[in-house]
Amino acid sequence: MAKIQMKTPLVEMDGDEMTRILWQMIKDKLILPYVDLKTEYYDLGLPERERTKDQVTVDAANANKKYGVAVKCATITPNRQRVEEYNLSEMWKSPNGTIRAILDGTVFRAPILIDSVKPQVRSWKKPITIARHAYGDVYKATEYRIPGEGKAELLFTAKDGTEMRETIYDFECAGVLQGQYNKDSSIVSFAHSCFKFALETEQDLWFSTKDTISKQYDQTFKLIFEDIYEKEYKAAFEQKGITYFYTLIDDAVARVIRSEGGFIWACKNYDGDVMSDMVSTAFGSLAMMTSVLVSPDGKFEYEAAHGTVTRHYYRYLKGEETSTNPMATIFAWTGALRKRGELDALPDLVAFADRLEAACLKTLNDGIMTKDLVGLVEKGTPVTAVNSAAFMDAIAERM
Ligand code: NAP
Ligand code: MG
Repeated sequence: MAKIQMKTPLVEMDGDEMTRILWQMIKDKLILPYVDLKTEYYDLGLPERERTKDQVTVDAANANKKYGVAVKCATITPNRQRVEEYNLSEMWKSPNGTIRAILDGTVFRAPILIDSVKPQVRSWKKPITIARHAYGDVYKATEYRIPGEGKAELLFTAKDGTEMRETIYDFECAGVLQGQYNKDSSIVSFAHSCFKFALETEQDLWFSTKDTISKQYDQTFKLIFEDIYEKEYKAAFEQKGITYFYTLIDDAVARVIRSEGGFIWACKNYDGDVMSDMVSTAFGSLAMMTSVLVSPDGKFEYEAAHGTVTRHYYRYLKGEETSTNPMATIFAWTGALRKRGELDALPDLVAFADRLEAACLKTLNDGIMTKDLVGLVEKGTPVTAVNSAAFMDAIAERM
């Protein structure tokens, strides 16, 4: 059989620990036999980040900007313990943070649904994709405790020296104080990413804030979205038969629970943090969650939503058998290959991505799965728990 050809290379970002092992297996068993794979390879594994003083992460992000589509393996974000474990000269920053800062994007997370794992919310039939604004607000806030009586003010000094000043509160006792911000430019990027992704995936877009209470801050988010929608996306949305829907965050929460799913829910940074954990747990597990970073100028970085599965890796190193779920990482590859196929007009590559995903779902629906899923399937479903390699072999058979 002739292998499927590619035009533009995918930016391949390798990673750490158990997911690095899965990464190689996925390529060997599920991709290389069928595709004449073209990638520009960047090793974001921690030893290489240390060796290059993290330059490799910056280079990989710039390659993503240049070529447009990347696939990324999970990577370690070092903490103190990792500095010792890997003998690091510095506590290198989170690669995802570095890549996001360079691409300036929004992260979209969606669950992979299978028949035998029913969502905790009975009405949900289709995936709900959360689009989280990943800049500013409480994550970049300045805050402190107020020791006692005194006046707290909000002061802005413009470049020409003019001041805007307002009393926040006249404290009669001890308390707390916080100042947070966001930038129009970041909100505009967020809006473009969301509207583009909705068009791409042909799903309705919901957006929610608390603009009735936050009459300047949240209102700004609402107005920027509205303005960009009316001017740049309304016609395209109408043509595709999809809608843009704004509502208050509390109303959105109630509607999401009653819904069938099948839409994108754009959330401010904090709402997205909290709601994505709720939605992913209610749908099943992080091992069944896809994640893609979309930049406002239409660059894509596909990855799994989970980490490097350290506990499994230590067992693997001891020679014990591990049953780590590769679904999210396989779907990162299929997402990236499909996008590359669409951009380069390669229908065979798009069809290959579809076929690989279908084979994965068929394997799971045949009851062959990794151990993490066994506890989640409906009672009475016949299942065979297998290790990662056997799971991939079963997928390859079905291809
Ligand atoms: P994790 O790697 O997501 O794993 C946490 C636990 O979730 C695992 O121990 C395992 O539970 C379960 N799990 C996650 N993915 C699984 C899979 N594919 N198959 C089966 N079980 C799975 O999170 P972590 O242990 O907190 O973090 C480990 C490292 O990953 C850290 O160094 C962190 O910095 C990094 N991290 C990277 C990313 C990223 O690159 N995007 C994201 C998050 C974390 P059991 O042990 O109970 O089986
Ligand atoms: Mg969270």
